[in-house]
Amino acid sequence: MNVKKIREDFPLLLANPDLTYLDSAATSQKPACVLRAEREFYECHNANPLRGLYELSENATKCYEDARKTVQHFIGAARPEEIIFTRNATESLNLVAYSLGSLLLKPGDEVVVSIMEHHSNLLPWQMVCRQTGATLKFLECDQTGFLSDETLENAITDKTRLVAIAQVSNVLGRTAPIEKIVKLARKHGAVVVMDAAQSAPHMPINVKDLEVDFMAFSGHKLMGPMGIGVLYGKKELLEEMPPFLTGGEMIDSVSRTGAVFAPLPHKFEAGTVNAAGAWGLKAAIEYLQQIGFDEIKRREEALTSRALEGLKEIPHVHVLGSEKAEEHCGILTFTIDGVHPHDVSAILDADGIAVRAGHHCAQPLMEYLGVSTTTRASLFFYNTEEEIDAFVESMKTVRRRMGYGE
Ligand code: PMP
Repeated sequence: MNVKKIREDFPLLLANPDLTYLDSAATSQKPACVLRAEREFYECHNANPLRGLYELSENATKCYEDARKTVQHFIGAARPEEIIFTRNATESLNLVAYSLGSLLLKPGDEVVVSIMEHHSNLLPWQMVCRQTGATLKFLECDQTGFLSDETLENAITDKTRLVAIAQVSNVLGRTAPIEKIVKLARKHGAVVVMDAAQSAPHMPINVKDLEVDFMAFSGHKLMGPMGIGVLYGKKELLEEMPPFLTGGEMIDSVSRTGAVFAPLPHKFEAGTVNAAGAWGLKAAIEYLQQIGFDEIKRREEALTSRALEGLKEIPHVHVLGSEKAEEHCGILTFTIDGVHPHDVSAILDADGIAVRAGHHCAQPLMEYLGVSTTTRASLFFYNTEEEIDAFVESMKTVRRRMGYGE
């Protein structure tokens, strides 16, 4: 991969040669083809999709439905109607929690999540458990984010109705054993919801092979526009589920007293949809596929390994999670003794390096690991060796710049 050439595809990176962007787990940068696609939708195809019976609106509908097919093939779904467009992973997860939760859960039932969940895959389940009387149970990992067979077997039982789990933790970068979880869930008749917000940009996912029942991800983390997300769901489950949001576009007919809902996927896409966002997401997926996940993985592991080696040499720096670069999915979360992550972030920012500081929307995990806040550097294939070195060099100076002797 010619990284210099790749970076030319990203207008923001080109315009800011002194910026080292290490916050791709929060949102990725966007290649020009994605920006062009969004603009092209508004310049060439803009009409309200799914409504008009005139040519322009039909073109807009075609863009939107083409994008759906691209997503379908990207994740190996059997049918386009199993792809629901939402605003983001958060909305996708809320949709499943409220719609399926109300159908599935009753007092005494259990919902299993991991201690590593992002708040977006935790709060909806907390809410729906409260509403239905179900109990929320946590899978507890070791310090590196590893979930043992014993942990899974003890937590997933005949009482389990649903397991909701991130494929990759946004803090530790560790990949969960989804195949094992699905197998256990099947044995006990439970549904599996996979949060792929952090995994979808970095690894090939085939929902048919994985056999998950639902999967959620956001477009903006895989170079697509903000405001477009995806929920995959198995057709037979989606068909049983009541709508999440109601209103225009999601009905076949309405009377004074009720409505007949539209067939899938439109039953779950109330109101005017984000067709330009979907068209942009299609361009992002095609761009990602052109680079290829093998190349992305190879590059990210090499960069992660370089960063990990560099950080290991710095006294007072503690990286959370595994010691192996291949178990980080490009995410390095760390603490520095005596320095608040907000100061770490401000110091790195002064050197042109953008990282994330805080609890990363995973407060239960922070508490479990015994840290209050941390700093997270997250990379993508467009980062360079020079950027990693600049990050490590800047990190070496943090304690000194905070007034410590070493
Ligand atoms: N799950 C995980 C694991 C995430 O990292 C994030 C984003 N930080 C989300 C869910 C939510 O994504 P969004 O904010 O795009 O809805």
